[in-house]
Amino acid sequence: MAKRPSKHLRAPRPLSVGAFARADRKDDGEWMVQAMSADAATKTYRCPGCNRSFGPGVAHVVVWPRIPDIGSSSAVEDRRHWHSACWSRRK
Ligand SMILES: [Zn+2]
Repeated sequence: MAKRPSKHLRAPRPLSVGAFARADRKDDGEWMVQAMSADAATKTYRCPGCNRSFGPGVAHVVVWPRIPDIGSSSAVEDRRHWHSACWSRRK
């Protein structure tokens, strides 16, 4: 019988999208930024940077506050979808 590695040795799957996000510092604080591939963009979003809607099928970035606002139940609910270029232009 072939020896198989114990499943306990396998790396755990990330529990949240935040696992692959990077932190980005802007003038108004720290934000988590995650790239969204064109395949993953399945809805229409409105970019807060230029106020234009885009998608589905458009690669972009998802941004949320690194520290959630007081009163919001979870940082994930504060997520905003930005054009990658608009986000990089933001200070
Ligand atoms: Zn934009």
